[in-house]
Amino acid sequence: MSRTEIDSISYKCPCGTGTVEQTIISTDYVFPSAEVSYKFQCTECTKVWRLSNGRLVLKESEKPYIEASKACREAYKAVRQCIRQIAKRYCDQQSSLTKKSEFEHLVTIGRFSKGYATYLKCRREGKTMSEVLVHEDPSSRGEVLQWAKSVSASVGFSGQLEEVLDRLSMREEALGQAEKQIVSKSL
Ligand SMILES: [Zn+2]
Repeated sequence: MSRTEIDSISYKCPCGTGTVEQTIISTDYVFPSAEVSYKFQCTECTKVWRLSNGRLVLKESEKPYIEASKACREAYKAVRQCIRQIAKRYCDQQSSLTKKSEFEHLVTIGRFSKGYATYLKCRREGKTMSEVLVHEDPSSRGEVLQWAKSVSASVGFSGQLEEVLDRLSMREEALGQAEKQIVSKSL
């Protein structure tokens, strides 16, 4: 007995000469699941539309959004780069420190929360003190930025950090606007 069922449903495509085929493959095992996919049966509509989770997206209308996403990623990269430079300059000023005092310093400024053995391991693996400092999991991005803001003036980077942050927020704004321009509709 087969425990997999395949259903298909036809919708009229946007131009009206072809169809969009929806296929649902469902299983009836201990953890039932259903896999839904969509496919155009229309050459013209394939050129103009894209299918996304059962919705039609007008390809042309997505172009500004794709461009804006790229610009946003570049602006974000520039912020990261600036923070890394700040961290490097900051750590260069601490160059007389031993590894033990590097570790203690990072703990004091709240940029390292694991033990000394872990710090030594990072350094043995070739990471510099500043790389450890800016190392982040996504949840601590805000903290790293706050730290960078708090020291940027003392290492001669205040104007530059503000500049890249301003550019990032402008581009995020533009991304939000571009997202609103995307034309999509249900089948
Ligand atoms: Zn069509």
